[in-house]
Amino acid sequence: MQLYSTNNPSLRASLAEAVFQALPPDRGLYMPLEVSPLPKSFFGAMTKMSMAEMGFRVCRHLFKGTIPDDDLEEIVYGAINFPAPLVEIDGQISVLELFHGPSLAFKDFGARFMARLMSYFNRGNQQDLVILVATSGDTGGAVAAGFYDTPGIEVVILYPSGKVSLLQEKQLTTLGKNVKALEIDGTFDDCQAMVKQAFVDNELRSKVRISSANSINISRLIPQSFYYFEAVRQAGMDSPPLVFCVPSGNFGNLTAGLLAQKMGLPISHFIAATNSNDVVPSYLESGKYNPGPSTSTLSNAMDVGNPSNFMRMTDLYGQINGLDPLKESTWQAMQSSISGYAFGDAETEDALRRVYLTHDYLLDPHGAVGYLAIEDHLRKSEKSMHAILLETAHPAKFKPDVERILGASIAVPERLARLADAKKEAFSMSTEYTELKDFLLSRY
Ligand SMILES: *Cc1c(COP(=O)(O)O)cnc(C)c1O
Repeated sequence: MQLYSTNNPSLRASLAEAVFQALPPDRGLYMPLEVSPLPKSFFGAMTKMSMAEMGFRVCRHLFKGTIPDDDLEEIVYGAINFPAPLVEIDGQISVLELFHGPSLAFKDFGARFMARLMSYFNRGNQQDLVILVATSGDTGGAVAAGFYDTPGIEVVILYPSGKVSLLQEKQLTTLGKNVKALEIDGTFDDCQAMVKQAFVDNELRSKVRISSANSINISRLIPQSFYYFEAVRQAGMDSPPLVFCVPSGNFGNLTAGLLAQKMGLPISHFIAATNSNDVVPSYLESGKYNPGPSTSTLSNAMDVGNPSNFMRMTDLYGQINGLDPLKESTWQAMQSSISGYAFGDAETEDALRRVYLTHDYLLDPHGAVGYLAIEDHLRKSEKSMHAILLETAHPAKFKPDVERILGASIAVPERLARLADAKKEAFSMSTEYTELKDFLLSRY
């Protein structure tokens, strides 16, 4: 399998290179060179397959022999070991629940797959690979759980002291084994600066093998396409045209849907739903891309002012149509297959309450934004369709907000409740880079 950089299509990398580098040297993003439709026989047999089996076949199709079947099977089946049920909430709208993994958010799919793929490419290396991550909350939890107990890989997570929720902190600091949490006396930006400095420190890099688990890594994107197949399988091949609504921040989830569509999955349309951070909906509306600083909202995992995967989206539409990214024709092509909608916190709270009362279904704030987008889209459109909302996180992850909105207490799944009593273990550190460096040199 070959990948290219969105900044320069002639800059190529192997899958292993793309996975370990995360970003190409020219600061573009890696994309698979060839994404062709899966064979007809696959779609014929799909209804009898598990999500892991579909995932395995998708990877085999994309990777083109880069990884032998037996190993690939182990990677995919190991990563995709929890379900993604499709739950009907009214005749036209269903919810695809992506929160049944260890950290209760869809990021588990990407993190678990990336961990196994890295471990595979790292095999035979005598020296451990150290994954360095700075987190402001959720990413750290998915990465910690995803890489937990992975052979040959150590994880070091930096988080700002007192600036992540109690639950998020527990997700980082209670696993143990190969996961170490560093509690930094500073901000998220300080944590990120320390990690960045480590990557440009040649002396450190000559002694310790470090890599990142950045969200733009192609190995996090590919497995996110699996659950689109799983949704179509559950909806049935004779379903009315399928429209996927994706509550979005960095737009990785939606980009994975575009890849699935390119592989031949029958998706008729996408809905991009955002909170007040609406750069992409306003681009779809006006053709003008105006990134800026993010604003804080209730659906905070979508508080992104300059979505990192936007480059991949324009690249896909430019490429499909033989056009340059950000040309008017790319915009028109994108506009015809993606509709954008944005909503504020007050509407989001109202939707969360309303869906709970009328459909007896509890959404989280990110899902509630998506629900509003589906309602608007159905109102505007005359065609019949089956709208599938990707529910990106479990509502209990946002317990204080959800309980305030409902005015009632909610149930917490066992695996989340258990964390409350688990013992925190973290190393305290100042924002001095040398402290991080000494820590890494003395341990790895
Ligand atoms: C990360 C995240 C999102 C945004 O996903 P993108 O792929 O960045 O668009 C939405 N909801 C939740 C709960 C998330 O954790």
